[in-house]
Amino acid sequence: MNTFNVIIIGGGAAGFFTAINIAKQNPDLKVAVLEKAKTGLQKVKISGGGRCNVTHAEFIPQELVTNYPRGEKELLGPFHQFMTGDTMAWFEERGVALKIEDDGRMFPESNSSQTIIDCFLKEAEKYKVEVIYSSGVLNIEKHDNAWVLQTKTEVFYTEKAVVATGSSVKMWDILKTLNHTIINPVPSLFTFNVTDKRIKNIPGVVVQNVTVKVLNTNLESTGPLLVTHVGFSAPSILKLSAFGAVELAEMNYDFDIEINFIQQEFNQCLDALKQLKQELAKKTVFKFAQFGIPKRLWQKLVLASKIEESKTWADINKTQLENLATQLTKAVFQVKGKSTFKDEFVTAGGVDLKEVNFKTFESKLHKNLFFAGEVLNIDAITGGFNFQNAWTSGFIVARSIAD
Ligand SMILES: Cc1cc2nc3c(=O)[nH]c(=O)nc-3n(C[C@H](O)[C@H](O)[C@H](O)COP(=O)(O)OP(=O)(O)OC[C@H]3O[C@@H](n4cnc5c(N)ncnc54)[C@H](O)[C@@H]3O)c2cc1C
Repeated sequence: MNTFNVIIIGGGAAGFFTAINIAKQNPDLKVAVLEKAKTGLQKVKISGGGRCNVTHAEFIPQELVTNYPRGEKELLGPFHQFMTGDTMAWFEERGVALKIEDDGRMFPESNSSQTIIDCFLKEAEKYKVEVIYSSGVLNIEKHDNAWVLQTKTEVFYTEKAVVATGSSVKMWDILKTLNHTIINPVPSLFTFNVTDKRIKNIPGVVVQNVTVKVLNTNLESTGPLLVTHVGFSAPSILKLSAFGAVELAEMNYDFDIEINFIQQEFNQCLDALKQLKQELAKKTVFKFAQFGIPKRLWQKLVLASKIEESKTWADINKTQLENLATQLTKAVFQVKGKSTFKDEFVTAGGVDLKEVNFKTFESKLHKNLFFAGEVLNIDAITGGFNFQNAWTSGFIVARSIAD
């Protein structure tokens, strides 16, 4: 008989973490995971470029929540229950040491996502979690005090159901039949497509600290910028794509950005350029990059300022100096479309947070129905924060159910 105390729908990061913690904390409960695919944890496998960026070295809940464009307010309480340090400890107790990289991202020391998968599979077996593959849930209904879950070939019964299906549109449709509100899903964490002479043939160029504004919006971010084959990437852009996920979708990914490459105001930069004109009078402008800008980009910006390659600083006139100051401090680029950021992408949107009790991650509409992970309208910028949401929500669901 397919009857369980708890069924977790979805064998991804959140689903496995929830199931293992329930089964460990309360061995009396019969726990199953129903996974649609032939194997589970597929996103874990490809995550972080195959290395799995498990979490982030940010240990203050108030700081940690600022990385979540959706979920900032709601996750504060949960992070006081289980957060990044607890994630580290959880994995370390199971023999998986994590290391912190310079930018705060944390990975398994093995540099392989398989280590995380092996850990989960071993723990699931140890605590007798029944993982049933090729079992996509097609319908969820309440009959008396049990949830009835229908797959293509079978019917499952459970007292408590946990939905951990990530960004599955089909599951969101099922949840709508249970009267849950689903916030319209849109992509988050993408790069910007830009075709422009100033960045043509210079992929790989990185500027360490730029400010990028999306014109005609309040969206602004600072951080590293990378020139790619098709436009711009790196944290300054990815942050905008996350915080602007909804707004940029509404603009159909067709908008202008203004980049300050040197973190100086226009007038301040113009003064500095006038100074350089004095000091470097006999040197060619084109040849010697200034303000720490990579040479290949500097040369493009010089040409865009209508300064010919052969000109010395002494040669250039006031308009050219102003052009250069404009290129350095408020260069406008047209964005047309987006591309996938291969290391990590997520969906903004999902179950409306107003309908969830964040002390337990239980539905406010249905008793004994819980949510964990990306199925909720919670997502974060890149850096390990999305998995942290999966671990935190999974852990709290587990504790609510196991107690
Ligand atoms: C390429 C890539 C790299 C990433 N790298 C990172 C990273 O390094 N760090 C980070 O923090 N985040 C990363 N992310 C984001 C992270 O993977 C997700 O936020 C996280 O996997 C969400 O976990 P989840 O369990 O909620 O959903 P998922 O991991 O998507 O798992 C959902 C599971 O439910 C199953 N399922 C769906 N519908 C049904 C159904 N009806 N019945 C049964 N099962 C169903 C799916 O098959 C899947 O196995 C990355 C994402 C991508 C795409």
